[in-house]
Amino acid sequence: MNFLIRNVKLVDGTGAESVPRVNVAVQEGVISWIDQGPIQHFEYPHYEDINGEDLTLVPGLIDCHEHFAGDGGQFGVSIMADESDDMALIFSRAVSNARRALIAGQTSARDVGSPHGISIKLAKSIAAGAIEGPRITASGEWLQMSTTWGYSFVKTVDSKEAMEAAVKNQISGGAGLIKVGATGTKSDGTSYSTLGPDICRLVVDLAHNAGLKAAAHCTDGIEGTWDAVNAGFDSIEHAVHIDDRTAHLMKKNGTYIVPTLSTWDYRIRAANRWKSSRNERDSSEERKWTSIASTKRCIKAGIKIAAGTDAGGSPVRHGSIVHELELLVEVGLTPMEALQASTKTAAELIGNQNLVGTVEVGKQADLLLLDGDPLEDIASLRNIWAMFLGGRRIR
Ligand SMILES: [Zn+2]
Repeated sequence: MNFLIRNVKLVDGTGAESVPRVNVAVQEGVISWIDQGPIQHFEYPHYEDINGEDLTLVPGLIDCHEHFAGDGGQFGVSIMADESDDMALIFSRAVSNARRALIAGQTSARDVGSPHGISIKLAKSIAAGAIEGPRITASGEWLQMSTTWGYSFVKTVDSKEAMEAAVKNQISGGAGLIKVGATGTKSDGTSYSTLGPDICRLVVDLAHNAGLKAAAHCTDGIEGTWDAVNAGFDSIEHAVHIDDRTAHLMKKNGTYIVPTLSTWDYRIRAANRWKSSRNERDSSEERKWTSIASTKRCIKAGIKIAAGTDAGGSPVRHGSIVHELELLVEVGLTPMEALQASTKTAAELIGNQNLVGTVEVGKQADLLLLDGDPLEDIASLRNIWAMFLGGRRIR
């Protein structure tokens, strides 16, 4: 558990440029010492001595939008919905997916919706050391009004009172954040704000009073997105319909965006092997381009971007965060900004920035040793030479 990484190039996640020939010591799972240059004298004997020559050290990655109960793939979401009463099956799948995320370099994650709130049990089991996975902050169930889409892994409510009871139920059940759906589409195809300003504010107040963040799923239309931002939601999930006016308000309120560009990208890349219909392809293309335009608007407005894939809640598979970062670079983030979207900024959105998100003394040793430099090529985040979670070697 005690080790020293010598002579490594450090990209610490704070936004500082990379520093060559750094030495990083880890004691009892915590980063205890960082220094530059040749080591004259190192006071601790019995440390594992790791040669970091020609490698780059970065913080462990964070995916801010996952659904561990779902596998992803073509039928992943519907399978999760169909089997939503088989708790053992859902839980074992969630355990497998947590492992997949972990070995891909993801040391923390946010789960934003699972059947029966099973992700809270997953997060607790990992924290207790019973199973292995990233540090998970879980919303439990995903709450929304009964007028919007009704997959069985979301909990639907039909009044302000019912929403209040449902949020309180999540809080008392151990939720680490509150997740609601704030947008919907009527049968005539028009989008609308499903909660309205009043219920949006109620949810935010209940969450914040309990010390939790509030996240709003917004894929259908500007009205609901506006209401969510205006009410003070901490994050908007999916950058689909963000106009300049909403972007301006997000900047003013300090709202985070979690674009989830992977979800539309995956559908388009898979369209041929799935033999998707013309309509499905057109719809994915339309969402892809509105989402890219919205994300670019967010970048231009200087909004805080946290990376998330929607793994399990879409065809995206768990452990895919690096591809999301590649897509963020394609739409305009620098590699440094993309890395921070999945480290420092992501930790700030989750609220565990005192523990993780950067390589600094006093932080948990959630570390990736890479063959390559992600500031030169973001894809090198896939080339994990060694990985540590709280100082424990994972790979
Ligand atoms: Zn989702």
